[in-house]
Amino acid sequence: MTLRLVPKRDSLRVRERGEAPVAAAVFGDPVAHSLSPAMQNAAFRARGLALRYTKFRVPVPDLKAALAGVQALGYVGVNLTIPLKAEGARLVDRLTPEARRTGSVNTVTFLPGGTTEGDTTDGRGFLRSLRHDLGMGAQGRTVVMIGAGGASRAVAFALASAGARRITVLDIRVALARRLAGEVRSRTGVKVDGVPAGGIIRWGSLLGGADLLVNATPVGMKPGQCPLPVTALHRGLAVVDLIYNPPVTTLIREARRRGLKAVNGEGMLVNQGALSFERWTGLPGPVGVMRAALRRALEAHR
Ligand code: NAP
Repeated sequence: MTLRLVPKRDSLRVRERGEAPVAAAVFGDPVAHSLSPAMQNAAFRARGLALRYTKFRVPVPDLKAALAGVQALGYVGVNLTIPLKAEGARLVDRLTPEARRTGSVNTVTFLPGGTTEGDTTDGRGFLRSLRHDLGMGAQGRTVVMIGAGGASRAVAFALASAGARRITVLDIRVALARRLAGEVRSRTGVKVDGVPAGGIIRWGSLLGGADLLVNATPVGMKPGQCPLPVTALHRGLAVVDLIYNPPVTTLIREARRRGLKAVNGEGMLVNQGALSFERWTGLPGPVGVMRAALRRALEAHR
């Protein structure tokens, strides 16, 4: 089957037609580790679409030319990963409100007429995972987040925009935590604090009134690592560790051992990909198929 893309509201709808297949890709630097091709190619196959998805290493200074190049080749869109998300937000013709608020683009869609649209699906991917994998919404929640980097940025804006009551962001780089807190607070009106993660932390009182703990640091990727003392985990606290490799970190294992609900970052990764797929094709992203493909790819990498 070959495809034609026609505009449908804000997105694109794929239809059959006798033209060459179009394609999609992820740009990043480095990008070799990206699992997006495995997820997206499985999704395109599952929906019977003759789209191929690949990956290209693109340094920041080359992003403009790379976007123009694949647009000219008839791609439906691209994903952007580290370190291209902020530059992507500067280069596209128009931004979704969420991409404008966060200053970050992970999904570029090439619209008919030559317009490029930038969206960010990371935060919505997190919220979908929160709902489907943990059975909770963001409304009225008190959240503690460890780490104030790129992943935390997407999650903090998403939680605040979805009605979280209060968010505390810790980072060993306190200036980063304070800057992120200030941005989220001023753009959403939600009470957000940035606090240092170094020195003595009173974890008990910090987590005392919290509903949700999010680990947005790489601490836990190596065996035995945990970003906080596990004795501070109390009943009623839900945990999301954004790490997905290994699938069960010390934090997740210890939280579950104490009877807490805890999930890893797989759901966020799969759902941000499914939302990109939806943006490009106008079709629902096959989340189960994409999750299975991700797990197979992770297994193959181990
Ligand atoms: P990042 O930009 O490097 O941000 C992490 C931040 O946490 C850095 O500022 C880091 O400081 C800080 N940090 C490190 N150890 C800490 C500690 N013990 N306490 C407090 N802060 C600490 O990384 P990122 O891109 O946001 O990614 C963070 C994690 O999320 C990674 O594990 C990544 O794999 C995961 N992730 C998951 C998804 C998903 O879809 N599931 C998506 C993106 C990222 P230093 O730089 O000084 O170390």
